Formats: sequence, C-alpha cells, structure tokens
Amino acid sequence: MKVIVAEPRGFCTGVKRAVQLAEQSLQRGKSVYSLGPLIHNPQVVERLQKQGLKVTDSLAKVPDGAAVLIRSHGESPGIFREAQRRSLEVIDGTCVLVRRAQNIVKQLHDQGYQVLIVGDPNHPEVRGVMAYAPGAICLNDKSDLPKIAGHRRLGIIAQTTSSLTAFGWMVGLVVSSGCAEVKVVDTICQATHARQQAALEVTKQVQVMFVLGGRQSANTARLAELCAAQGVSTYHLESWLQFRREYIRGKTVAGVTAGASTPDWAIEEFVRNLRQE
Ligand code: SF4
Repeated sequence: MKVIVAEPRGFCTGVKRAVQLAEQSLQRGKSVYSLGPLIHNPQVVERLQKQGLKVTDSLAKVPDGAAVLIRSHGESPGIFREAQRRSLEVIDGTCVLVRRAQNIVKQLHDQGYQVLIVGDPNHPEVRGVMAYAPGAICLNDKSDLPKIAGHRRLGIIAQTTSSLTAFGWMVGLVVSSGCAEVKVVDTICQATHARQQAALEVTKQVQVMFVLGGRQSANTARLAELCAAQGVSTYHLESWLQFRREYIRGKTVAGVTAGASTPDWAIEEFVRNLRQE
C-alpha cells in the first residue's frame, strides 16, 4: 500500500506542553491529579496513568497537598479560585491560544458586548471560556440563533478547533440577524487550520483516508468530517488495533493524518503497518 502522510499532523504545541508538564511534575514525585483526561487520547492518558497521573472529575476529590493539573482546554476562574483557597499547587497547562480566547471574551464582556461562542457547548474548552464572560451564549448550529434575539451589541469568537468555513457561515447568519453592532474576533488555532488544509491536500491524491485520534477529540472528528466531505472513504480510528483489511480492499493509495492529541509514536506505528499491507 502506498501511504501519503499529511504534514503537519498530530501533536500541537498546546498538547505537547500539557503532556510535558504532566511528565515533569510526576518525575518530581508529586501526587498529581488532572481534572478530566489530560488530552482526548486514551493511549496517552493510559501511559501517563501508568506513570502515576490520577484523573478525577472534580476538584473536591483532589486531596489536600496534591497538585492539580489544568488541561490545555483550560478551566473556569472558579476552579482556579477554589484551588487557591485550598492551597493546592496548580500546574497550569492551559494552551496560550485558549488563554487568549478566555481573555478576549472577558474583555468583550467588560466592554458591554453580549458574548457569542461558535462551538460545541459540551466541549470543556467552550465551557471554560464561557465562564470568563457570564451570560455568554454558545452557537452550535442554526437552531441556536433565536438565543441572540434582543441583543444589540454582539461579540463573537470561535472554539479554537472550529473550521474557518463553519465559523464564517455562523458569523454571516449573526450579522444578517439585524443587530446593531457585531465585533468578530478570530480565535481559531492555526495548528488546527494547518492540519485541516494538509489533510484536504492529501485527500486529492488518495483512495482512502485514515484520521487517527481519540473518539472524544473534537479536532480529530472535524478532520474526519472534512476529509469525508471530499468524497473519499474516511475512517476515524484510535489506533492500528481498529484497522480492518476491508477498509483498503481494492485500493492502492491511502492517506493518513492525525488530530492534535495524537502522539507521533501512534502515527508512526499505524503508517508502518499500513505500508506493509
Ligand atoms: S489545538 Fe491549538 S488551541 Fe488547541 S491545544 Fe493545540 S495549539 Fe492550543
């Protein structure tokens, strides 16, 4: 099988930093808890858990004296305040681009704009960012538009992993909704955009596309959606274990890309095995 690998693909700087922070703090022998899986990749999370990282769903479950690791998705101001109140050590892995989005919505809110975030309301990054602008509204699709009725000054940003096309489409709908003023700030991460463009280039040259990454990874799911929309058979897999021969039956050229939370070793293993098919 001829295999074309998208470039760039896999780990972004934000995820790389969060994983490094976790490894460094565990090496210090500290008891470290991450609030939710550190990244949306079960293989990486499992490796870190073997090194001692504990995963919890609530700050209340972190014992006194332990360290709490904030994921690249960031957290609400309330979590930082509570950690400080309990004198817990905070290892802040918030990606600088997520921090930028948090700062922007806070500024927009302080300036009197009704903040809108285009993205998935259930994603931890979006939930965290919304907490910096009380009353913020999340726009996931067209059916959310009635929520902005009556607001005259709107400040709109995107979940960092949104596609530029989806963000632009939603901004167009908001602008034509009849409000007096709309301020748009592009908060889409270029790492995400660059991975999407590289994947689209690869889809033009292949008969089947494999997108590697965790099931819960928003940016991986988006990559898979974009590739499939080009009309190429696309499979979103977490690892080589999920590969089935029937995916490549009758095909000779395959493409591979990976979401921002997929480590190089998982991509290399997949590509090596696929080339031998
Ligand atoms: S995808 Fe972009 S915003 Fe998200 S963690 Fe990576 S670098 Fe940061």
